[in-house]
Amino acid sequence: MTEQQTQPEIPQSVIIPRSEHSISRAGISDNALKVLYRLKNAGYQAYLVGGGVRDLSLGREPKDFDVATDARPEDVKALFRNCRLIGRRFRLAHVHFGREIIEVATFRALHDGETSDNGDVHIEDGRVLRDNVYGTVEEDALRRDFTINSLYYNIADFSIVDFADGMADLRAGVLRLIGDPEARLREDAVRMLRAVRFAAKLGFRIHPETGDRIPEMASLLELIPQARLFDEVLKLFMSGHGVGSFELLRRYGLFRYLFPETDAVLETDGHDTWIRFISWALENTDNRVSEGKPVTPAFLFAALLWPAVRVRSGRYADERGLTPVQALQEAVSDVVDAQLSHVALPKRFSIPMREIFLLQPRLERHGGRRARRLLGHPRFRAAYDFLLLRARVEDAEQAVADTWTRLQESAESDDAGGRAPAATEGAARRPRGRRRRRSGGAPGQES
Ligand code: ATP
Ligand code: MG
Repeated sequence: MTEQQTQPEIPQSVIIPRSEHSISRAGISDNALKVLYRLKNAGYQAYLVGGGVRDLSLGREPKDFDVATDARPEDVKALFRNCRLIGRRFRLAHVHFGREIIEVATFRALHDGETSDNGDVHIEDGRVLRDNVYGTVEEDALRRDFTINSLYYNIADFSIVDFADGMADLRAGVLRLIGDPEARLREDAVRMLRAVRFAAKLGFRIHPETGDRIPEMASLLELIPQARLFDEVLKLFMSGHGVGSFELLRRYGLFRYLFPETDAVLETDGHDTWIRFISWALENTDNRVSEGKPVTPAFLFAALLWPAVRVRSGRYADERGLTPVQALQEAVSDVVDAQLSHVALPKRFSIPMREIFLLQPRLERHGGRRARRLLGHPRFRAAYDFLLLRARVEDAEQAVADTWTRLQESAESDDAGGRAPAATEGAARRPRGRRRRRSGGAPGQES
């Protein structure tokens, strides 16, 4: 099914010369510059785009650098030995420099459903399913999501081309979708999550014309593949602005499409405890990110699902006469099964997450020789950190948590031949047995 799509009006593009903006080549990675220059010297247009230009203009360090060009993917590949073409929805060139990847995208156009006789663009219920029609730089700019993400730094003369009045919004701290907000959200509902993520990260406000549409369109997230939502959830909660993202997700009615069962608990009586619980967990994660420490999705998802697990296991214990441990096991299975139909969680994270849950009663029944053995469990540290978090909202006894703190300290000073015990806070410490390797070599972080 195809339907007519609202084309944004083409605004006048504005060229901001080098003397009137703050982006200097010193802020751009050498590898990104190499790519830009090689494209330009081969006769192509080459621009730095997206988050790189936005973050540099705000005096922030970009996460990565994206390049847009009129060179076709095959042309890009021919220019760079270290280039791979990737992508199913649209083809992109990845130029590899060790661990840094510069993404090079050919200008694309967003076309009318009506003009897609060639089958390149397919629009269903207003959603863009394939959009690999090449276009001009203007078209490329106007198919982007927010005005502030639509600034192009031109390597030919170091100017910034502003196609959608993005510079004014950048200065005013405003996130605004390009074109008709409703149509743009219908094309791709993930833009609602991106709005929240950028608002939390940059401290921007979402323009009301964009923001007012979000609660009424939030249910469109149900159409988004679970794996894509998993990626977005990680970006929302593991990029150092999780607390702000969580608040905004709830305010705009988005959280319930990501974690419906947890959201239902948060919306009922006595929800304060669980809001605080999740906020503490996210604050902990934000702090670790800002200190450059590793964080793991297993712990994050454990925290986001625990309120649901807790309420369900209480109900199972009452209604089915199960022991607390049996009730917990069944609640964990059912909550995880239900959750996976909304947001994917790869096994390498769901397995340790279940362990964190199921270790809770074992930690609470601590004592004697068994306690020592638990200290060596690969998930002990995460489960212990989780117990500390629970104790903070009185979901577990502080005295029990303290016992484990002391046990570890004495075990660690035994191990280390009397060295001072390590600090014990933190969300996702690496397992004790591996810690010594750190001094010797690769940090082996999870992301
Ligand atoms: P960051 O990398 O810091 O998360 P970013 O703005 O670079 O932020 P990316 O996901 O790397 O975000 O995307 C790069 C650019 O591609 C964006 O700035 C935007 O112009 C465009 N873009 C990304 N996702 C979408 C989308 N869903 N709809 C429209 N444009 C998008
Ligand atoms: Mg980016």
